[in-house]
Amino acid sequence: MSLAGKRIIVDAGHGGKYPGTIDNAVHKNVEKEIALKVAKLVQSKLVALGATVYMTRTTDKDFGGVNADDDVNKRWAYINANIPSSHALVSIHLNAVGGRVGSFYQEGTYASKSFAESIQKACTRYYDAFGCYAANFAILREVKVADQKSLIEIAQIDDPEIALSSRQSTIASAIVTGIQNQLK
Ligand SMILES: [Zn+2]
Repeated sequence: MSLAGKRIIVDAGHGGKYPGTIDNAVHKNVEKEIALKVAKLVQSKLVALGATVYMTRTTDKDFGGVNADDDVNKRWAYINANIPSSHALVSIHLNAVGGRVGSFYQEGTYASKSFAESIQKACTRYYDAFGCYAANFAILREVKVADQKSLIEIAQIDDPEIALSSRQSTIASAIVTGIQNQLK
């Protein structure tokens, strides 16, 4: 199914001086790096289906905040100021060891809940414990230019598979399937 005419914001979490969570013990996985790789895969797969994609970053950069929370605030302000009204937003993250993996939506938002559930449905085929959760994240709460929004914790940072490009591509495809099924 084509996504022609659909405008989708893809946010790679963290970046620059804010690396997000890091797996020091095992694989040296760094959240900002894997999030960017997966975000770019999501971008290219969406573009191939005809969507117009707006990336918050395509390089290792931060938004200039004085700490990680401030950086997120500058990020959503950037989105609201610079990106046109869009059908959907996905923000790609990895969680800390023991953290929940799944699609998150801002609590109390009907459209975003349905969107997050569609992403969960597509991703749970590849990741048994992929959940769908209400949350209160600034990027979901404050972005006003997207109709449906989900922050996706694609894996825990110490997952041995998530460093593999094949796994990154699989999860990116599943996210795109979830987006497609919702926007059709
Ligand atoms: Zn994160």
